[in-house]
Amino acid sequence: MTIYLHDTLRAKKVAFEPLQPGHVTMYLCGPTVYNYAHVGNARPAVVFDLLTRLLRRSYELTFARNITDVDDKINAAAQESGKSIDEITERFIKAYNEDMAVLGVLPPDIEPRATRHIDEMIEMIEKLIEKGFAYEAECHVVFDVDSNENYGQLSKRNLREMIAGSRVEVAPYKKSAHDFVLWKPSTPELPGWDSPWGRGRPGWHIECSAMAKKHLGRTIDIHAGGQDLVFPHHENELAQSSCAHDGDVFARYWLHNGFLSIDHEKMSKSLGNVLLVHELIKTIPGEVIRLALLSAHYRQPLDWSGETIESARRMLDRLYGAVRGIEVSADDRTNSEPPAAVIAALEDDLNTPKALAEMFNLVRTLNKTKDVSERSKLAASLFAVGDLVGLLQNDPEEWFTSSSNSELSDGEIESLIADRIKARADKDFTNADAIRDELATKGVTIEDRPDGTKWRRT
Ligand code: AMP
Ligand code: ZN
Repeated sequence: MTIYLHDTLRAKKVAFEPLQPGHVTMYLCGPTVYNYAHVGNARPAVVFDLLTRLLRRSYELTFARNITDVDDKINAAAQESGKSIDEITERFIKAYNEDMAVLGVLPPDIEPRATRHIDEMIEMIEKLIEKGFAYEAECHVVFDVDSNENYGQLSKRNLREMIAGSRVEVAPYKKSAHDFVLWKPSTPELPGWDSPWGRGRPGWHIECSAMAKKHLGRTIDIHAGGQDLVFPHHENELAQSSCAHDGDVFARYWLHNGFLSIDHEKMSKSLGNVLLVHELIKTIPGEVIRLALLSAHYRQPLDWSGETIESARRMLDRLYGAVRGIEVSADDRTNSEPPAAVIAALEDDLNTPKALAEMFNLVRTLNKTKDVSERSKLAASLFAVGDLVGLLQNDPEEWFTSSSNSELSDGEIESLIADRIKARADKDFTNADAIRDELATKGVTIEDRPDGTKWRRT
């Protein structure tokens, strides 16, 4: 039962082994709390929630997901809304946790807030200055990238070449364009803390280095986040932590999720296509969003569209339809395990598309099985998969009454049949079957005849 994970630093899939046998430490870069989380922000929360659930099957796990509650974007949001910084951060921390809970994301063991770790950040910055990796200039403290020969190792960037070729204007207090800020001065209206370099506030990267060290130690097993964090955030965290800790390994496995786009476009305020989870969950069940986010492999890009949601909804209808009306015995429920094939898929770098396909193999077997006690066992096994992946957590009857079992119009039926014909032509039989099952669940029977597909209400 070895778990394989793709490590960004080694740029390959490797067998996972924690530093301390039996115990894993994991850190996920959490939200900057100045607004509601969008569906892209939800992707790392959901996929790495699944990883924590998988790890906990085999190991004890200490999982930290931080809150960045000091940031220029928060200051700007406070100014714009006329609210205090605390009001803004408290409001969005609460909303983040509530919204993620609707998506089945379990709370982390530790949720450190940056503003409560200023002393640890100052201590680490002092160490970096002492060891010659950082310098003070004009009330700023800056990390000296040239002092660290391994800089660029995570993001595979050759900075010497980049600097030579770039025409970026360098801030006057920096020796080199790629040096980054550890500490910066604050004006009286902005949040600030006393420090050896005057009243100021931390740079973003040092926050995670200091919080990871405080709660998980100098070396952590897994460090995770979205792909955009590889550079500069994680590259900088890595440089700071290893330099402050005499070259000790900072993170043994670096995991990054791919980006989510909306209808093949980047999500951005200017395009007006930012989908907030807070809004989506008003009309879409949390499990539908969760399943949609898990439907692609976590390292692949994921495009979000109406079809992504509809396909996830159909899959859930099939799952709930399969277990609907089955009396699962208490014994079966407690003793059941997910099928080995599901676990094997997840242990192979969280291969969720394969795990879901295996889940639907189980659905097919269950749907074909007549024997009552066998059906109870198969349904129990399906629920065990649901518990592991964070799906099937609703009552099946309620699922159909509350979410999607409204009567279909003739037009909707025709359109689903057209989708099914297309899916069959594309040899996407999983989707084709899902559509047929959805129609059946909603009281529509179809029949494929030589002259086309006919339907009738049952
Ligand atoms: P932020 O609050 O901006 O620091 O982002 C929180 C997390 O969401 C980080 O791990 C980001 O990498 C991730 N993230 C932001 N946008 C997307 C996106 N469109 N797709 C996937 N992950 C994203
Ligand atoms: Zn971070």
